[in-house]
Amino acid sequence: MNTPFWGPDFETLAGTDPEIADVVLGELDRLRGGLQLIAGENLASPAVLAALGSTLSNKYANGYPGRRDYGGCERVDVAEEIGIARAKELFGAEHANLQPHTGASANLAAYAAFCEPGDVVLAMDLVAGGHFTHGSRTNFSGRWYRPVAYGVHRDTELIDYDQLRDLALAHRPRMIIAGASSYPRLIDFAAFRSVADEVGAILMVDAAHVIGLVAGKVIPSPVPFADVVTFSTHKVLRGPRGGMVLCRAEHAKAVDEAVHPFTQGGPLMQAVAAKAVAMKEAATIEYQNYATQVVANATSLAKGLEGEGMRAVSGGTDTHLALLDVRPLGITGAEAVRRCGAADITLDRNEIPFDPAPPADASGIRVGSPSVTTQGMTEPEMVEIARLIGRALREPEHAEQVAAAVGMLTAAHPAYPRD
Ligand SMILES: *Cc1c(COP(=O)(O)O)cnc(C)c1O
Repeated sequence: MNTPFWGPDFETLAGTDPEIADVVLGELDRLRGGLQLIAGENLASPAVLAALGSTLSNKYANGYPGRRDYGGCERVDVAEEIGIARAKELFGAEHANLQPHTGASANLAAYAAFCEPGDVVLAMDLVAGGHFTHGSRTNFSGRWYRPVAYGVHRDTELIDYDQLRDLALAHRPRMIIAGASSYPRLIDFAAFRSVADEVGAILMVDAAHVIGLVAGKVIPSPVPFADVVTFSTHKVLRGPRGGMVLCRAEHAKAVDEAVHPFTQGGPLMQAVAAKAVAMKEAATIEYQNYATQVVANATSLAKGLEGEGMRAVSGGTDTHLALLDVRPLGITGAEAVRRCGAADITLDRNEIPFDPAPPADASGIRVGSPSVTTQGMTEPEMVEIARLIGRALREPEHAEQVAAAVGMLTAAHPAYPRD
């Protein structure tokens, strides 16, 4: 190629807008200088970031490849066609839509494709681990549809499949949603399918958190069981911030029309291209090894935190995240977040099942292994991280010493190494 490439050029940004350049550099320093344990975050590759920072951002491409509302879409059509083909191959899906701007937009499209306002939707209780797009009153899902919630058993903290079936029989939902934001265990998609079939409901699987583990072939795929699968592309999957929908061929038209024109305008073609790049990366053996290590690391981290006196909800994890009840340490989840933050450890507070504390405090923390695993950390580092979290929580007066130890870990396993 003899055309000069215009790529993400930090000097250009710094020259034009030093204030925003400073934010970008500062955020990179933050990523490099601490431990990122937020379960839904990851560190996208330089190749993904390059596609995101490209001139594809300029293009209007309403519609789908070969049938756009605008001229000049020949090049971006190729990116979307490649991305769709990779998604179908990677996930064994009959149809893929790469245009949702993010996971919540993918969910909006899925509701729009299958439900009418006022329809009953059966989804997981927020306090049990569900997502706010599964029926929260603060979200379209709770305002325009009639949410009914299933939960987990009080003793095992595992999904109560009997309650799920009883509620389905009693309320006859139009759609059942499986999937959660803070459920550390595998979900029995076959059980969901059989309940959906029994009541004639659509089965939507919101795989936002775990789709990267599915891509890496370390947990079972929801695709063979679901009518529609939605997800974010920036979590374990390690793509650009964005969303995607997979569905059976019979639903392709409904899903595509629900994304555009029903809920979105022009697609973010830079993000569509970056999703294609991420799926190429996710189809490799290296990524499968990564996904395997993500689960091993989360397991090891959860065990370590139990050793520090916290209680692992459901007794552990099968995935990339763990939920820890911090009440044994005499603090709230919110206080735990503050104490860890002072030691350069970033995580989030989370309600635990049947949490008696208000959501703004919460009784738990959620930790995830995707970012630190991308940085090349393995079990020995997880043991150390658990020790550091334990110390940060018990001895807030020693936050600086913990931060220094965090600095040693991140220096040995940097985010975005300068090579
Ligand atoms: C993260 C998440 C989403 C989508 O979130 P976005 O921030 O919009 O990508 C949807 N559902 C679940 C269960 C999630 O965990």
